[in-house]
Amino acid sequence: MLNMTTGLIIWCSEAITLAAVFLLAWWHDRRSPAYLMWALGFIVNAIGFALVAARGFIPDILSVEIGNAIALLGESAWIAGFRWLDKRKLEWSALLPPVIWLVGVSLPWVNDSFVNRIIIHDLAGAVGATLLACAVRPAEGRREQARGQLGFVFMALACLCFVSSVGMALFAPTQEEALIYRGYVALGDALFITVAVALMGKLLMERAERRWRAISITDTLTGVLNRRGLQDSYAILAGEGQRQPQKLAALLFDLDHFKTINDRYGHQTGDLVLIEFARIAHQFVPRGGAFGRMGGEEFVAFVPIDDQAQAEALAETIRADFCRVPLLAGRSLVPATVSIGVAIMPRDTVSWDRLVSSADRALYAAKRAGRNCIIVFDEMEIAKTVDAPPDTDGGELVPTLDDQIHALRRMGKLAGM
Ligand code: GH3
Ligand code: MG
Ligand code: MG
Repeated sequence: MLNMTTGLIIWCSEAITLAAVFLLAWWHDRRSPAYLMWALGFIVNAIGFALVAARGFIPDILSVEIGNAIALLGESAWIAGFRWLDKRKLEWSALLPPVIWLVGVSLPWVNDSFVNRIIIHDLAGAVGATLLACAVRPAEGRREQARGQLGFVFMALACLCFVSSVGMALFAPTQEEALIYRGYVALGDALFITVAVALMGKLLMERAERRWRAISITDTLTGVLNRRGLQDSYAILAGEGQRQPQKLAALLFDLDHFKTINDRYGHQTGDLVLIEFARIAHQFVPRGGAFGRMGGEEFVAFVPIDDQAQAEALAETIRADFCRVPLLAGRSLVPATVSIGVAIMPRDTVSWDRLVSSADRALYAAKRAGRNCIIVFDEMEIAKTVDAPPDTDGGELVPTLDDQIHALRRMGKLAGM
């Protein structure tokens, strides 16, 4: 039969090993204070149970009252770790497990009875495990699968502690019997905590994967979707199951004379203009759509629509708002505007290539129409142009006068180097 002291010492060594693993993880990634908090939790828990195991060698107050309070403080640190993991504020409620214990043992009728002390300890443990389940629960932006599994394990731990505490209160066992039952419950506790630690590893892996995926589809300058993210979102919007609304619109945005803005106000101001445009446009794109940066000063929005007027209204709102919002470089106003090409296709025949290249042709038409305006190609127009031979004279590759002057200037600069 396993004796209680041996069991406690085995648990202490397991807790110290887990603390070392979390300390190493924190050393590797110092920006994650949650690891440090969990490591502290295991250290504190091990110290507390070491004091409990030393009963008979040290004064009772140190072993019973303080030892158990310190062990329960470890649970508070784990709760705090989960809140830190999600960048949420710490709450005083995390201290409930040691507080419940200390309040309980301050009552003489609890302190004088081994069974009553176990009841209070298990109640404190049940509250701690419930708080752990609440701290790890899934929410907006925290959707890892392991969260649900962890929550389930913590709730199972809470139930075990609660049932043990209620069972002791109802059946009023002798001290010897209580010691045996408590031994089994402690084994169950250790098992659940070990499973929880394995699931914590799974949660951290899923979280890291989610983070890398978010980085891989985000444009670093503006924070909106990059081309890869846009392709993923397009695939969902144009996907099989999506039939309502029946049409998909692509709004292709290109900032006007952006090269001149860069040349006149500096590249940094150019970057700020891109950031500001992304902010303005993103806020108008409805929730069911997608918005992102195609590259350079080109952005795109994919929006499911019922009719052409919806796409036109959205494009016009963004165009008008962007040229209305004053953008400052030092004291001077940056005259930034955007041209927009809109293409609309039925969802059942839509393809990325046809939709985006039609929007690109509409955009080119908007540039030729004088910029800071919108041109819409509806389904009929797209159908007409798809089979038409390429326009070899009017293509974007034909340099404008500005392009030729710019090229000559660059050649002059290179010659002078
Ligand atoms: P148009 O009205 O015909 O679109 O003229 P434009 O000057 O906007 O077009 P052009 O394609 O000649 O110039 C695009 C410029 O965008 C050139 C490039 O230096 C600049 N650019 C591309 N990416 C960035 C970026 O991330 N930051 C900044 N500041 N400039 C960028
Ligand atoms: Mg461009
Ligand atoms: Mg441009």
